[in-house]
Amino acid sequence: PLSKLSNVGTTIFSQMTQLANENEAINLSQGFPDFMPDPELLSNVDHFIKEGFNQYAPLGGVIGLKEEIARKIENSHQAVYHPDSEITVTAGGTQAIFTAIAAFVKKDDEVIIFEPAYDCYEPTVELFGGIIKRFEMKAPDFDIDWTAVRSLVSSKTKMIILNNPNNPSGKILKERDIQELIRLIEGTSILILSDEVYENIVFDGKQHLSVCHYPELKERSLLVASFGKLFHVTGWKVGYCAAPKNLTEEFRKVHQFNVFCVNTPIQMALAKYMKNDEHYIHLNEFFQAKRDFLRKGLSGTSFELLDCEGTYFQAVKYDKISDKNDFDFAKELTINHKVATVPFSSFYKNKVNEHVIRLCFAKKEETLEKAIEYLSKI
Ligand code: GLN
Repeated sequence: PLSKLSNVGTTIFSQMTQLANENEAINLSQGFPDFMPDPELLSNVDHFIKEGFNQYAPLGGVIGLKEEIARKIENSHQAVYHPDSEITVTAGGTQAIFTAIAAFVKKDDEVIIFEPAYDCYEPTVELFGGIIKRFEMKAPDFDIDWTAVRSLVSSKTKMIILNNPNNPSGKILKERDIQELIRLIEGTSILILSDEVYENIVFDGKQHLSVCHYPELKERSLLVASFGKLFHVTGWKVGYCAAPKNLTEEFRKVHQFNVFCVNTPIQMALAKYMKNDEHYIHLNEFFQAKRDFLRKGLSGTSFELLDCEGTYFQAVKYDKISDKNDFDFAKELTINHKVATVPFSSFYKNKVNEHVIRLCFAKKEETLEKAIEYLSKI
């Protein structure tokens, strides 16, 4: 067959954004802010372009940026990474995830994922001949039964992919989960790919528990993060992968032939901007205000709010409104009620129809206000 990914179509995020645009609906589907990033960051980019930083960066990234990343990780998680040999700047989180999978997953290797799962994990594993083993976390609690996860582990298990905080459920891992994970991998050589792109968006004073904080996990983890989420610049496509030297060496073997390196003036601009911690330490509160605004606005409606501990996504149950499946409901909501969302079952292989949709609240207050107004009429 011609296709290597015969079961894959266009991502749900592109589909829903297109449907939103066609119907002039408020787009709470694809996760991106509808407000401007900090003008200071924008003028940094302008500055470095004009100063002549317009050629290739070193393949692992601009050293000043890698140093700032190392500093941020150490301050946030008390974990030390060597900037030059253990941090690689990537073209966004997705490229880091792709490269990590490409570097380590061979044919017939097994990879464990937790559903609801972000959409790129499975097809990427499949591209390299890996086999997915899935644990389904179920609404409304999305708890992980570690005994069930343990039963997925075999001698062929190469990697476990985590997404914490979890997109789309908004759940974060607890200390108990981390300890179970540590026990699970003890005595194995299983790698961990930890997608923590929403690490700075955690609410109600809760703590984000990064794999890098735990030495037993750090030594075998590829930690992925994203400047798009941190600084409201998803279109810049810059992120990074932090991993011990031996893993970073393998990661870079692929990275150099995948993108080679990432946008130089933007890396320079980010490095300068990151020198001031104030630029990101209040992100939690910034997004919590948006989450609370949306939740308050929807509390009088027939939509039922699920917990949201982190990320900029709110999951809502709509079974008091319709018994349609979530794809049809999300379509109807976009076309008839002018609010685009993402159907939750697109994050599961076996379409669990729990009547849940995902709303992105990384939006201006006026956008959220309008969406609440429209949703209140249903
Ligand atoms: N991460 C974004 C989301 O979950 C989508 C990014 C994309 O469209 N690839 O909505």
